[in-house]
Amino acid sequence: MPERRHFSRGLRFTLTAVYTVVFTLLLVGVSLLFRQTLATRLDQQAHEDLNENWAVLKAYLRITTENGQPHLSWYNDRDDPEENNDVARVRRIIEIADEQGNTHGLETSPEYEALGMDSPAAIRSQLSGPQPVWRKKWDPKGTPYLIRSSFVYNERGNTKYYVAVGLSLAESQKLLNGFTWLTVGLSPLVFLIGGITGWFVAGRALTPVLEIASTAERISGSNLSLRIPSRGTKDELDYLIETFNQMIERLEGTFNQIRQFSADVSHELRTPITVIRGQLEVALFTAQTAEQYREAIVNSLADIERLSQIVRALLLLSQSESGQVVLQKQRLDLIEVAREMTDQFEIPAEGAGVRLEFRAAVPRCEGDFDRVQIDRMLSNLLSNAIKFTPEGGRVSVTVARVGEEAELCVEDTGRGISAEHLPHIFDRFYRVRGKDEQASPEKGLGLGLSFVAWIVRAHGGSVDVQSEHGKGTKFRVRLPLSSVPAELPPAEARGPEVMNTV
Ligand code: ADP
Repeated sequence: MPERRHFSRGLRFTLTAVYTVVFTLLLVGVSLLFRQTLATRLDQQAHEDLNENWAVLKAYLRITTENGQPHLSWYNDRDDPEENNDVARVRRIIEIADEQGNTHGLETSPEYEALGMDSPAAIRSQLSGPQPVWRKKWDPKGTPYLIRSSFVYNERGNTKYYVAVGLSLAESQKLLNGFTWLTVGLSPLVFLIGGITGWFVAGRALTPVLEIASTAERISGSNLSLRIPSRGTKDELDYLIETFNQMIERLEGTFNQIRQFSADVSHELRTPITVIRGQLEVALFTAQTAEQYREAIVNSLADIERLSQIVRALLLLSQSESGQVVLQKQRLDLIEVAREMTDQFEIPAEGAGVRLEFRAAVPRCEGDFDRVQIDRMLSNLLSNAIKFTPEGGRVSVTVARVGEEAELCVEDTGRGISAEHLPHIFDRFYRVRGKDEQASPEKGLGLGLSFVAWIVRAHGGSVDVQSEHGKGTKFRVRLPLSSVPAELPPAEARGPEVMNTV
């Protein structure tokens, strides 16, 4: 019990761990994706803003060249606060230089200076490539700036001037950092919530499993009637419960059979032993002549013979149930086998005043059968038929072919079996005792038909019985003519059939 508890906690822990890790990974993944989207959007916004600044710059910046000296001015309406604002915004981070990188007489804002002036070489190389050039610069504090650089012409249009305008990315950076810290900060909380949720969910999912385990623990040979109640959710666990209950039901059936069988066996053995003991005691105390002793010994021997019949049958039964009896199949003509067996019963039939008939509907009926077992099966059916048919009656054996199967019938005009007994006659030790045979145990052990059913099933066939009380009985055996597995079916599938004493 403690070990199992530990095991279930282990499973719960694993489920929780997996759930938490997946949950957290998912959150991290979604956060990263979101952060990336945000960064891209902010970047786009920065580009758009700088393009707008550039448009403002183009609209209001005039550069004239007088005596080889550049002269720069901003031509906006000073009375228009909006225009003033626009220009001021553009001029906040700006560097203007001539093509050689000279800034003299042009304009460089202190904020741009703080980022580091562009060297003449850098300016030349930037002007030589495709325009505009986008890049990033960092101030001494590490704040990033987006820089857009290109050129404008002077008013005459004969000289190019290099212009770089910038935009602080501090806000975007702050936003992104804030998001990152929020995600990192929330992670332990998410991890915790994921863990707690996972623990409860796993616990709930495992509760029925623990219930199954505790019920299984309580089940033993003496209370196999216990069942786990189905939850009615029709899910995997319900399926498990159903399968488990079915297994217990099968076990219960087998247990009951074994219990019944043990009770039957001890009962069957006790009767002849009691009789032998009685006979011998009577002989010991009352017999006087050798003849009387002889009679007691002969009677005892007959009972001992019956005892050994039962023991032999039980031995064969245990062998077959443990799969030790293997069918020895060979190609046989069932008509020939049945005819020979019928012939062997000619004399006992005559002795009982019963007419024995044999009919075959086809000339041959070949299949793979175990000769010994088929003989045993026929012998059991025939001896029963003759035994339970009164003088003047008739027993007929017929063999026919129905599709891919052989049909073998043993029919008699005997006393028949009443409907209440019919479902049980294939059970071990089951006998329908007539009034006349109450005290004659040698009439049969009640094992013959169980064995017939077993042989038929071992050959992959089927057997059924039709009977009317007082009118007669017909046993119909169907055996497949194509080959079936040579091994006998496992004990569990065979049911209660046993070997007869024939
Ligand atoms: P037994 O060895 O006692 O005959 P079986 O298993 O062969 O045992 O048969 C079980 C019971 O079925 C018998 O006790 C008998 O009452 C009934 N039975 C079997 N065959 C016939 C038959 N042909 N006619 C009437 N009853 C039969």
